[in-house]
Amino acid sequence: MNLDTAPRIKLAHLPTPIEAMPRVSKAAGGPQFFVKRDDCTGLAFGGNKVRKIEFLLGEALEQGATTIVTMGTVQSNHLPLTAAAACRLGLKCELVLEHRVAIETRRYHESGNVMLNELYGAGSRVVPESEDAMAVTEAIAREARRRGETPYVIPRGGSTPTGALGYVACAAEIIEQSEREGYCFDFIVHATGSAATQAGLLVGLRLMGNKMPVIGIGVNAPEPVQSKRVYDMACRTAELLGKPGTVTADDIITQCDYVGDGYGLVTPAMRAALMDVARLEGLLLDPVYSGKAMAGMLDLARNGYFPADANVLFIHTGGSPALFAYRDTLHDDAQSARQ
Ligand SMILES: *Cc1c(COP(=O)(O)O)cnc(C)c1O
Repeated sequence: MNLDTAPRIKLAHLPTPIEAMPRVSKAAGGPQFFVKRDDCTGLAFGGNKVRKIEFLLGEALEQGATTIVTMGTVQSNHLPLTAAAACRLGLKCELVLEHRVAIETRRYHESGNVMLNELYGAGSRVVPESEDAMAVTEAIAREARRRGETPYVIPRGGSTPTGALGYVACAAEIIEQSEREGYCFDFIVHATGSAATQAGLLVGLRLMGNKMPVIGIGVNAPEPVQSKRVYDMACRTAELLGKPGTVTADDIITQCDYVGDGYGLVTPAMRAALMDVARLEGLLLDPVYSGKAMAGMLDLARNGYFPADANVLFIHTGGSPALFAYRDTLHDDAQSARQ
């Protein structure tokens, strides 16, 4: 498959802007931090999932799909964005919400992304952690088929080699934009979860012969699990493009020391980073992904990971709707910071 001929639906506003973060850079004492605003991809509240969904729904339409069936955690950003895209294309959408984050507040279960799912009119079913959410998803797809629908199933996070093509394309976007706007980046940093973002970026960069390190800050799994997840996804993505061997195990850099107690659970460092970036740059991160990635990046900077004169590009992968759902868990700190 060729990236330019892969089925794709145009949904995103591209290229997303690159902005300097001078006040964060100054507060950190260097290096120079920049942010690629993938929180502004243009569909609904934006985020990295929009780039994946362009290719996933391209494939779905090519296969004659009438219903999109997908899964994610309760506050998944992938779910409402998939539902929004399905609305745009006149497709039905069924969502499976896994209750696997131990937060029981009303806001967590009703606000943020959950509210958006309802707004889009998507069917949704909540399953407890003890149930296999992918099996429920497959069962819903089978029911849809029995009703005469043609379902297209998207796994967690839209992370398949097809979804990763969105970030293969983004790698080229970053390089072209850097040349046009006069940037020269030494590192890319972003949150990594279901792995297609980092896998796609690495495949895209290495296919262009660019050796830039891409540092994935893990948000759920321990380092060996996360790096294998990224490596496997990168290999499968390169194979899809007919270019096996594009990415080697040495290319995978994952930092998983910033997860805290688990996926979706607030850490003090995440809270601090989220508040600092809001108050220094007016930029809204999210508590599950970009907040932890920012906490990780700033900690790496404090520990001298980046040379003082480096230019570091943080990809803001989106997720700000979850801020509303997490208000109770961010609240304590908001209070104490005001005192
Ligand atoms: C899904 C998501 C990520 C992680 O991307 P993966 O491709 O799953 O690794 C990062 N940030 C936000 C806001 C997300 O919703």
